[in-house]
Amino acid sequence: MLTMNYTYRIYPTARQQTLMLEWLETCRHLYNKCLRDLKDWIASRKCSLFSCSLVREYIISPDIPFPSYLEQKRQLTQWKKVNPFYKDVHSQVTQDVVKRLHNTWESFKNRGFGFPRYKKYGRYQSFLFPQFANNPIKGNTIKLPKIGEVIINCHRPIPEGFKVKGVRIVSRARGTIWYAVVSIQCDVNVPDPLPFGRGIGIDIGLESFLVTSDNFRVEPSLFFRKLQGRLKVLQRRVSRKNKRSKNWEKAQLKVARLHHKIANSRKNFHFQTSHILCDQADMIFVEDINFKMSAKGFVGKQMLDGGFGQFRDLLSWVCWKRGKYFSQVDHKYTSQICPECGTHTGKKQLKERVHICPECNYQTTRDHASGRVILNRGLESVVPMDCRERKLSGNGVLSGVSCLDKCRSRNTNLRGLEARTLSYG
Ligand SMILES: [Zn+2]
Repeated sequence: MLTMNYTYRIYPTARQQTLMLEWLETCRHLYNKCLRDLKDWIASRKCSLFSCSLVREYIISPDIPFPSYLEQKRQLTQWKKVNPFYKDVHSQVTQDVVKRLHNTWESFKNRGFGFPRYKKYGRYQSFLFPQFANNPIKGNTIKLPKIGEVIINCHRPIPEGFKVKGVRIVSRARGTIWYAVVSIQCDVNVPDPLPFGRGIGIDIGLESFLVTSDNFRVEPSLFFRKLQGRLKVLQRRVSRKNKRSKNWEKAQLKVARLHHKIANSRKNFHFQTSHILCDQADMIFVEDINFKMSAKGFVGKQMLDGGFGQFRDLLSWVCWKRGKYFSQVDHKYTSQICPECGTHTGKKQLKERVHICPECNYQTTRDHASGRVILNRGLESVVPMDCRERKLSGNGVLSGVSCLDKCRSRNTNLRGLEARTLSYG
């Protein structure tokens, strides 16, 4: 089963826009209500029945079951009687709100962090129609239940053989820009691309946006920095207005639209870069670094500006679409190992931009070196087992300085793999 999302810009009329904003508010209200019940239930179970403390009381009767998805979905009918405005929203949309909360809850339980939060005003920005009997897009309109026909910019037709599964309506820039994310499905199995052919390793960094193992550089286009001046002016204007006044609202809107523009152009840059990389190779390897953690450090702003996490996700998607193999490799010590001989050269300071190997005198820039290390690791991970062993036995033990360093001994085995092209047989 193949599922894809196509995003289209939609242009609702003023009436439709008001209606959809009302829906979002109702959904937000419902989401917060479900979360309230969930939290209350959990809080009531924190203290045992027989030892009521001064801080916590056992307020919810022990017979009341846990407010699970099914339970809350059942209660929804009751709530609709008490809060009749829930009925204004399409019933499947409200059910999906409950589901959304429980998805967040489940992923919190799995990961151990990210407890669902109350949504503030304006923070609930999308709702989903989960089911469609037939394709709602006809010509340049999309037919949404209860909302009616909305003008859509159908820049790309829905491909043959695909069925529309659901449509998510997304509001951006304080409810002035709208999108319809159409998720489409097809009954085919597309196998994941297999490793073959030429590979490149990609080192993502700050000096250059990325450097491949062939020393191909993509310079960062710092949209944020370019538009930052403009953003600053706009934000200053906001701060001079009376909060929540008409003019404040207008100024805020300008800020929001600029943010939206920055995000869009960044995404566009990421897509273009991904395609350029796919033109160059059949296998692409990147580091499995956690960019969110790195962004907390002192280079945080540039890190987030680069949007590296988003880039990696998009790259993996573009690779899949174009039939290129994509894989992430261990990021540890990528900047400390010599790609030629595998010597551990020790920690480099951030300012050291050159890699000079004391062992084999290999010299190159720091990011190019780590790009090559990433490629080596990637190739190591995809070489068929029997092939790898053959390479191993030919290599033997390194003279002199061979130490027990784990990374090093692993990497020395790669000398035989110097040819970038993998061939089986
Ligand atoms: Zn070396």
